[in-house]
Amino acid sequence: MSDRRIYIDVDDVISDTTITYPTLLKKHFGKTIPFEAITSFDLGKSFNLHKEELDRFMQIAHSPEVITKYQPRAGAIESMNSFISMGYEVAIVTGRPPSSKQLTEEWLAKHNISFHHLFFVDKYSRILPGAYPSNAISLDALAKMNFCFAVEDSSDMARFLSEDMQIPVALLDRPWNRNSQYQDHAASSLVNRCHTWDEVMEIFLSRKQNNHNKTKN
Ligand SMILES: [Mg+2]
Repeated sequence: MSDRRIYIDVDDVISDTTITYPTLLKKHFGKTIPFEAITSFDLGKSFNLHKEELDRFMQIAHSPEVITKYQPRAGAIESMNSFISMGYEVAIVTGRPPSSKQLTEEWLAKHNISFHHLFFVDKYSRILPGAYPSNAISLDALAKMNFCFAVEDSSDMARFLSEDMQIPVALLDRPWNRNSQYQDHAASSLVNRCHTWDEVMEIFLSRKQNNHNKTKN
């Protein structure tokens, strides 16, 4: 069934996460940085915070009070339900710390989000070797898994999935991935930049149709 398994990230893909960060930053650090200025995935850079400040910010961003309030992104839930009704397996693959498992599950349940798996992958090598929680998956272990399609907002993960794993990726356009090599609908690439979940679905269906035609010919 794994050739029918779809990879879907959580933050800024299913959940409208980073849009809430400028308000948090203003409230806890007194800094004004507009959403459009978050041009680096490294929030330390985007917000000009040093290591300890960034750690504190991430603790706040992953606290129950904050996580519970995130809203789902427009079209995400409907699209995930469509994948399931077409017979696909939905794997939610998040780079959140594994300690946020319960909160994440509660948030998914609160919004009636349907899925088959929830994986915590150490996407950005934040976990120290030897300190791996039993429910965390390394990038090496992820690379051994099969997916037929992925939806991400991180350009580093889009590169890993498309180049190292040969998986087609819908990269949801966000200020922090606009400097990446992945430009709009580059035909040669496995990565398609999408601005909305409607566009993600269009790309998914057109790739599906192409594969179908290839098998037929
Ligand atoms: Mg994300």
